[in-house]
Amino acid sequence: MAEIRLYVTATEETAGIILDLLSDEFGEEDYAIATTEVDEKRDLWEASVYLMADEEDVIRERIASALSKAFPDSPIEREVIPDVDWIAKSLEGLKPVRAGRYLVHGSHDRDKIRPNDIAIEIDAGQAFGTGHHGTTAGCLEVIDKVLRARPVNNALDLGTGSGVLAIAVRKVKKIPVLATDIDPIAVRVARENARRNGIVSGMRMETAPGFHSVAFREEGPFDLIIANILARPLMKMAPELAHHLTPGGSVILSGILAAQRWKVIAAYKGAGIRHLSTIWRNGWVTMHLING
Ligand code: SAH
Repeated sequence: MAEIRLYVTATEETAGIILDLLSDEFGEEDYAIATTEVDEKRDLWEASVYLMADEEDVIRERIASALSKAFPDSPIEREVIPDVDWIAKSLEGLKPVRAGRYLVHGSHDRDKIRPNDIAIEIDAGQAFGTGHHGTTAGCLEVIDKVLRARPVNNALDLGTGSGVLAIAVRKVKKIPVLATDIDPIAVRVARENARRNGIVSGMRMETAPGFHSVAFREEGPFDLIIANILARPLMKMAPELAHHLTPGGSVILSGILAAQRWKVIAAYKGAGIRHLSTIWRNGWVTMHLING
């Protein structure tokens, strides 16, 4: 069942007061309550309660009543939390996965490779991305299409996890690929996987949160940027991502639930990047967008 976050947006000070009211209401029970900063400049915070979808109506009413005296007009917003148990997900079903011309398989399935497959060997491990998740498979499918249809002379895989998408690009085209991840373990795993897939040069791996590294300036701007993260960080990143994209360059975004896609499309439109196509896999969407 889906996890839901109900939240109220407020200034830091007000969010603190709301947090106290919510703690009074839910303190004895097993709900996670939190405040998070969303925009430092505008002093915007969110005070949230996390719950399961089937309790939503009851909890919404309880939040409204807890806030009714002090903040009667605060709208209560909601967000469906995607399943972010990446590693557990990546261990699901270890059968080979086909997407576009790619076959992603574990070392125990080398005999499943057919003559025309572009095979990528990834064993389930400490980083996300064995190809089994709908978002990874969706990205592979779109990567295959984009590399066939458009001139791409370099690429960035942001949030590389196991390195699977960066490896997929490099297997089809001998172009420089930058692969980054916020998690140093993922970067280590991606490096090992690249080597295991016979990639000895042309792929640079860096640990970096978002676009915070000199590597982006040194390697960019990019003809192709792939980011399979989550809707929210992707929306936040839109202007910076646009900055590192060549005119006419392609963007492949995933980690987006179907219901979130319009918001993401709008955020990118605002950054001058227009939506071309969307594919669906298991409730997740992967989108292809283009600069200009
Ligand atoms: N590209 C792989 C892995 C996707 S999982 C695939 O498609 O299968 C998402 C990855 O993004 C995780 O490895 C996570 O550590 C990384 N990540 C999340 N937020 C990030 C950020 N702000 N900057 C860079 N990497 C991030």
